[in-house]
Amino acid sequence: MLDVAPNRVAIIGAGLAGLTLAISLHHQGISCTIYELREPSVTTSGALMLSPNALRILDTLGLYNGLQSQGYNFDILAFKNSDLVTTDKYYLGNQRLYQYKALRVYRQVLLTELRVEIQRLKIPVIYGVKFSHIVSEDENGVTFAFADGVQASADLLVGADGIHSTVRKYIAPGVVPKYSGMVAITCALQKSVLHYPEGMNANEFPMPVAIHGKNGAFVMAPQNVDGSEVLAGTQRVWPEQDRAGWDALLADKEELLKLFRSNIEAWPVLVQSALNNVPEDSLAIWPYYVVPKMERWFSPSSRVIMLGDAAHAIPPTAGQGGSQGFEDAFTLAALLPRLTSKLPLDKALSRWQDMRQERIDRVIKLTLQLNNARLPENEREKLAATGAPVWQSGDQGELGWLYNADVEKDMLGYVKAETKGNRTCPVEWLTSKMGA
Ligand SMILES: Cc1cc2nc3c(=O)[nH]c(=O)nc-3n(C[C@H](O)[C@H](O)[C@H](O)COP(=O)(O)OP(=O)(O)OC[C@H]3O[C@@H](n4cnc5c(N)ncnc54)[C@H](O)[C@@H]3O)c2cc1C
Repeated sequence: MLDVAPNRVAIIGAGLAGLTLAISLHHQGISCTIYELREPSVTTSGALMLSPNALRILDTLGLYNGLQSQGYNFDILAFKNSDLVTTDKYYLGNQRLYQYKALRVYRQVLLTELRVEIQRLKIPVIYGVKFSHIVSEDENGVTFAFADGVQASADLLVGADGIHSTVRKYIAPGVVPKYSGMVAITCALQKSVLHYPEGMNANEFPMPVAIHGKNGAFVMAPQNVDGSEVLAGTQRVWPEQDRAGWDALLADKEELLKLFRSNIEAWPVLVQSALNNVPEDSLAIWPYYVVPKMERWFSPSSRVIMLGDAAHAIPPTAGQGGSQGFEDAFTLAALLPRLTSKLPLDKALSRWQDMRQERIDRVIKLTLQLNNARLPENEREKLAATGAPVWQSGDQGELGWLYNADVEKDMLGYVKAETKGNRTCPVEWLTSKMGA
């Protein structure tokens, strides 16, 4: 079993988790190569909500300042009823409570910042290659193959290849993403097209906002620096499709618009104005798939590991999918250089997975509370009678467990406890991180 820092790590996937892992490993003195399916010229649309736990990691890696000025900075998502009266709020960030405001930024901007850093650090990325399968793994490392038959090897291989992961097929054969039964329909529109009820000042209307009514929740969230462009969307129950079926739904703008506008009269005028001004070319769908909880995120001999969506794609409501991938990557990178005879790879990975799963389980619980708060009115009333948990916010930092956690410190605390007295562990460095 590996009980020293690996020299060469292969990362499959240059998405959020893979790029963050590569940068974090570089800072820990471990070399890696990234292998990515798509060419760098392929761009992606849409924006992401990043909360303080993700922003703290990006800040530690020196990337936050550059990103902050390229996105929309805010504190809360306001919950409103169909009369547009604020009923509650959900903190996605706050300087005083959580050190950072939330940041909504285009995914492409974030990927570009990460890629520029990868280039600056001279971390090799091989684009346009499709990981195919693991050829073999033993005490000397892992050999793997690409779809074109080319093989490569490394001390460790980390699958950061997303929700439809190929690496997962090796670690957990048979585990496939599960459809939740819901699809989100979204568009990007100009805030200026919205009509507010008489007497309501558009500049004072809080955004992002989730308007709850008979149809469920309709969310509007600014996504460019000055907040003039807004993502607008809602979710609908829809039967599962295969890939071609989802593509067909996306291509059929008329059908999609009909679905988006169903029961339009039940929405307040503000939402109706959004639905009547949808730029068709910006219509998008997001079927909610989740990856079921798995026993292991690594292979029996521990040379093949997975993280990010490959290991735990979660429902979207808490806006934590990407953020949890950042945490996976950052903590794994902190762990790998500190392997010793007292903390060999298999033991270290077991603890890492437990620590990560504990947080993901808590995010899933939070998501359920938030989803319950977003149900259509009559379903919420029925639910209230069952005593099911429904999100209720506060101003006392209730989300501190999520946003203020120092996941690296927690990981290093474990390493310190396990490796006490072990001469190969960099104790001075750990002590400076942990305090005496
Ligand atoms: C519409 C939408 C909105 C979202 N909004 C938010 C949000 O607001 N906040 C948030 O935190 N999260 C959000 N998420 C979730 C977030 O995007 C994911 O959790 C995150 O992207 C997962 O990162 P990842 O690196 O694990 O996977 P990915 O980002 O999917 O990256 C995987 C990479 O692996 C590559 N790859 C795949 N297979 C192979 C192969 N065989 N060989 C080589 N390379 C391969 C892919 O090309 C890709 O580049 C959203 C997701 C969607 C779809």
